[in-house]
Amino acid sequence: MCDWLEESRSVASRMNGRPVLLAFALELLFKKNPLEAIEGCCLECGRQLDYSEMFSPGRPPRYMCQRCYKALLHEARRGQCLLCHRVLPKQQQRELQWNPRELKNAFCQEQCLDYHKILAGRVLGVSFNLEGLDRLQGPKQVYPVDEEQRQIGYDKYNQLMIDGKPIRRLPQLGGRRK
Ligand SMILES: [Zn+2]
Ligand SMILES: [Zn+2]
Repeated sequence: MCDWLEESRSVASRMNGRPVLLAFALELLFKKNPLEAIEGCCLECGRQLDYSEMFSPGRPPRYMCQRCYKALLHEARRGQCLLCHRVLPKQQQRELQWNPRELKNAFCQEQCLDYHKILAGRVLGVSFNLEGLDRLQGPKQVYPVDEEQRQIGYDKYNQLMIDGKPIRRLPQLGGRRK
């Protein structure tokens, strides 16, 4: 099984201090703000985890309670990415059938998987640059931003701006969960 602590550390070192806000599609940031993932608390339900629950000898560290983990495994059988809910490539769906506990296959392999590693890493105590994420909210309204060339800024009311445009919540893109 995947060691999410190791995986998350490797994303952190690849990002090398770059703000999470600039590295991922806004769609993902609005689905689950990394600030909602709290160190030592289940990523899904927020319940505080015991140390022994997270780090039991001989197993990879856990960032979810047993119940939420099982629910997620169940959901993974739908063959859709657990984050963005897009249908997964056939190969990943097959891998999931053979090895349903390998949650790595339950995410789109680029952004969604790395993003999940960040969320897991937050629970496991890995540090990321979270600048601007606390201001990532607002009424439903779309402002197109260039996903490639984003820059963080703040207007005179201290509202978050990316690329000089105020950021508001995007409409939910294909998905049941928040
Ligand atoms: Zn839970
Ligand atoms: Zn995805």
